[in-house]
Amino acid sequence: MATRLILATENEHKVREIRELLVGLIVEVAHLGELSDPPTLTETGETFADNAREKALACARATGELCLADDSGLMVDALGGEPRVRSARYAGEGASQDALIAKLLGALQGAPPGERSGRFVCALSLCAPEGEVGRWEGRVEGVIALEPSGEGGFGYDPVFLYPPARLTFAQMAPEEKNAVSHRGRALRQFRADLPAILSARKRF
Ligand code: IMP
Repeated sequence: MATRLILATENEHKVREIRELLVGLIVEVAHLGELSDPPTLTETGETFADNAREKALACARATGELCLADDSGLMVDALGGEPRVRSARYAGEGASQDALIAKLLGALQGAPPGERSGRFVCALSLCAPEGEVGRWEGRVEGVIALEPSGEGGFGYDPVFLYPPARLTFAQMAPEEKNAVSHRGRALRQFRADLPAILSARKRF
């Protein structure tokens, strides 16, 4: 029977991107929404890595299975690195994508293109009930656009300009975003390391 890997997230956009990036792996990938009694996950840390570990460990302890969590967000240089781990709640708990983008563009009002640099960061944590088994990180550098463009992706994608493509992440096809994104970079490292992790676990 294939090993089951549970994605410890309720974010359907993340689930879609992670599933696409894990296609072909010899593990069965499930997510919280598919569990009959899903655990409630919290993120109380000050770093992406701490939050990813908190979510993955809570999920692993509640289910008794291997769980992978993604904690990610945007860091903008002109804002001293904010909104960082507060990216999802930057415009208040449960704020819409439009509200998040409006808040960000408002905070950057008057900042010229040369001062709008930033990056997306993705921390992944793989946990078993007994503790963290591995952690990975991916980053992608970009520029916050003056206004939103594009319909794809989620979150801040319409204002995250990826300079090599001269497009925002929301203007790129899903596979183009995955090829260069913070999540794609972290998940490719995870994929490469997973076979050794699984075979080491089978030996004990
Ligand atoms: P969390 O990891 O659940 O704390 O949420 C991360 C938040 O960062 C998301 O709700 C988005 O607002 C933002 N974010 C993370 N990754 C991406 C991405 O790939 N595109 C756009 N926004 C993202």
